[in-house]
Amino acid sequence: MKKYYQKEIETASREEIIKMQSEKLIKQVRHVYDNVPYYRKLMEERGVCPEDIRSLEDISRLPFLCKDDLREAYPYGLLGTDLKKCVRIQSTSGTTGKRVVAFYTQKDVDLWEECCARAIVAAGGSDEDVCHVAYGYGLFTGGAGLHGGAHKVGCLTLPMSSGNTDRQIQFMMDMGSTILCCTPSYAAYLGEAMAEQNIRPEENKLKAGIFGAEPWTEEMRRSIEKSLGIKAYDIYGLTETSGPGVAFECEEQSGMHINEDHFYAEIIDPETGEVLPEGSKGELVLTSLDKEAFPLLRYRTRDICILSRKKCSCGRTHVKMTKPMGRSDDMLIIRGVNVFPSQIETVLLKMGYLPNYQIEIDRKNNTDTFDVYVEMSSAQMSDKISDIQKKEKDIETSMRAMLGISPKIHLVPIKSIARSEGKAVRVVDRRKLNE
Ligand code: ADP
Ligand code: ZN
Repeated sequence: MKKYYQKEIETASREEIIKMQSEKLIKQVRHVYDNVPYYRKLMEERGVCPEDIRSLEDISRLPFLCKDDLREAYPYGLLGTDLKKCVRIQSTSGTTGKRVVAFYTQKDVDLWEECCARAIVAAGGSDEDVCHVAYGYGLFTGGAGLHGGAHKVGCLTLPMSSGNTDRQIQFMMDMGSTILCCTPSYAAYLGEAMAEQNIRPEENKLKAGIFGAEPWTEEMRRSIEKSLGIKAYDIYGLTETSGPGVAFECEEQSGMHINEDHFYAEIIDPETGEVLPEGSKGELVLTSLDKEAFPLLRYRTRDICILSRKKCSCGRTHVKMTKPMGRSDDMLIIRGVNVFPSQIETVLLKMGYLPNYQIEIDRKNNTDTFDVYVEMSSAQMSDKISDIQKKEKDIETSMRAMLGISPKIHLVPIKSIARSEGKAVRVVDRRKLNE
């Protein structure tokens, strides 16, 4: 079985990677300057021209692009090629506001699918596998990306798309799906639904899952691995840079290798924009090194992570990023305290609850209210109100230790919180809704 999809590139030496990145960057800056007036203007405002970019270090002279630029330039303002050369449009999920669209030439689609193919092979995939793609198909990049990658690897591809959980389980069992691709929250739900149908983890043929598109904790990983009887791998990407496959996890399951032949990664201080040294926590900035149709330079992802070049036992040499644990704009400020939904998830899963929860924030009499609804499994249910109240108090105590403030916990019966088929809705912030 192949261990790598593209061994030479995935295990290239540091020098080879730097050489490849420098050459591509110089060409890409020229391509953007010549073809994207929106970005050329930003460069001119900074007094930079393509001749100034002679090596990777010079990248810091280039201006950043952010999501607002994409919204301002919507729909065609950042297009790098003739629309006639484009063969595809995809769009973001719109998690944090108006959707943005991205364009692809055939070459862009091929390179994107290759990135996803690398992720599938890293998760143990080959032409022997049945790859069950339960990411949404359509404008969302999850379905299209993993579908294309599975084809490239030669897997028998099941284009299930999201939803219709009973049919998902039926096909999974009948067709003997071996690799599952979907959001982690949907994977957790599938595990739960299979348990309800009395299908034990050993009874399915699944061996691995490739889950991404939303933040998920280590505790959530262990919980999914147990409920489905698989090894669960993380995958990262965003529509603006093609979709999933910017980075993927290998057998070490300790961070995701960024496909450095296609993306140059930097970490910056989100407040000042200053580039931070390796090992610092900050906002990930990505430069697409060879995209034709939607060639973003220094795109601010708003995802907070850490990069590491520590040697990886899998043999891949590309830099690793930690799981992005929430976006810089995902952070909630409740009564002046910074709270990340991932912290709440960590506490709940550690205490043996299912990853079914919703955070509700509101403002009453000038004070923030902070409520967390948590489902109990059938085993956790109790007829005695005092039992439930005690459990709620216990969770509140652990939350206070983790967050510095304590939410009001409401334990609710199983199935009270709507299940997501794509990205989970963890936060309802009524302060924003009421504005
Ligand atoms: P939207 O920004 O509207 O959700 P996308 O569907 O393009 O649009 O989603 C990309 C975003 O999803 C990323 O910027 C990141 O915040 C999140 N994301 C993707 N993969 C992961 C992952 N493995 N872990 C955490 N967050 C992820
Ligand atoms: Zn590795």
